[in-house]
Amino acid sequence: MIQFRSAFKGDKKSALVFMTLEQVKEKKCALSGKKACDAARAAVSAGHFEGNKGDIFPLIVDGKMVVLFGLGKKADLTPTSLRGLIRRGLLLSYFKKSADIEVILHEDTVDTVKAVIEADIIGTYSWKKYIAKKADDKTVEKKNIFVIAALRPEYAACITTSENVNFARELVNDNADLVDSLYLEKTFRGIVKGVRSVEIEVLGRKELAAKKFGLLLAVNQGSNKKPRVLIAKYTGADKDAPYTAFIGKGLTFDSGGLNLKPTGSMETMREDMSGAAAVLATLKNTIDLRIKKNIIFACGIAENAIDANSYKPGDVITGYAGISVEIGNTDAEGRLVLADVMAYVNKTYKPVKIIDIATLTGAVVVALGHDYTGLVSNNDALAEALLKSAAATDDRAWRLPNYPEIKDSIKSKIADIRNTSTLRGAGGTITGAEFLRRFIGETPWAHLDIAGTAFVDGDSRFYYGHGATGVGVRIFTDYMLNN
Ligand SMILES: [Zn+2]
Repeated sequence: MIQFRSAFKGDKKSALVFMTLEQVKEKKCALSGKKACDAARAAVSAGHFEGNKGDIFPLIVDGKMVVLFGLGKKADLTPTSLRGLIRRGLLLSYFKKSADIEVILHEDTVDTVKAVIEADIIGTYSWKKYIAKKADDKTVEKKNIFVIAALRPEYAACITTSENVNFARELVNDNADLVDSLYLEKTFRGIVKGVRSVEIEVLGRKELAAKKFGLLLAVNQGSNKKPRVLIAKYTGADKDAPYTAFIGKGLTFDSGGLNLKPTGSMETMREDMSGAAAVLATLKNTIDLRIKKNIIFACGIAENAIDANSYKPGDVITGYAGISVEIGNTDAEGRLVLADVMAYVNKTYKPVKIIDIATLTGAVVVALGHDYTGLVSNNDALAEALLKSAAATDDRAWRLPNYPEIKDSIKSKIADIRNTSTLRGAGGTITGAEFLRRFIGETPWAHLDIAGTAFVDGDSRFYYGHGATGVGVRIFTDYMLNN
């Protein structure tokens, strides 16, 4: 939990003091009037602590742990590096047994305090549900952080949004056999329960068959899980004001289907519902923050599993939009699920904009790596607005093109289009996006391919630990608040 204090009191067991190189040179001390300040000055005067990026100097003052942490040159700090450094400070083993830490910043500005909030809530989050806990280890527990800064009204929203980023991560990180379609439906119903500004539509197998969601049902037909489409119509503004739609891909597990993924590519595939997790967490955040906008939140939920009923490569399947699709590869299933949901939402709810979010292609990792979400759009204004929100929230995105000639890449000899391109994988992200574009008519649309950014399959990246990152929640929230 984060609390705010106007001045350093030194009454907690531990303190973490961030200082830039310049502050150390000027021998400025934020611990004024306290013994800790004398100790810090002594460390600086003796040259033990210079304030270089990542420098750490622990002091014991009256039995309390005070750690000086260097940020380096102020001009070199970026939103990402600042969050990363603060996260490192908060996770130092010196604080292993501390439940309370006073945090003294190098400056009291909105951006810096928001960086502390995100470094604490998003940065120190870790997924340890299935690891036995050591009784006295507070590292993974929620610490009480006392930030020495003036309390400003925008911090409450930043805290809520950061917690909802973690809400998305919890959904992604847990087992695929636990977080299945019914679990997500229950989560969805829980989020909207008692909320008067929300109307919902939940489509099960029977309704999906009646409405001819042939593509989504084909993807799910090798699974014993139930297919679901979850839609919430949130009316935060005047009911006659236009609606924007957020649509998430929710493959609770993706084996690849009969075009089976190889070992090494399947182990993290419970993350293939990260788009749906982002949409559900954004729905929760929208309700929590009472955002005054009209939004349609929709998720297509299926599982791409294998048995004798699995859909087959080479078959032609027609879905809700009436467009026939040749199945070039059963592992390009996310676009099939999304196509039905996007076409349905577009026709039924008539949103003025559609933004989908999906772990869609491995190609986006080749193109952009793990640090930028791929953005494809048929509308420059919408793309610009989303890129602005991505930059403002440090939830990075980079635009890739959509252009008229790309349509030839998904031609089929036996169907209207094909779910894989004729380009042997070249430009896989933009051909995948082009497939989706066919299902929304002329509606302004943007597609976020988060296959590279949804999950950290290592120790950490930037200020995210191992596992899900909760990508998209901050972009969507900022977009709603500013557009
Ligand atoms: Zn797949």
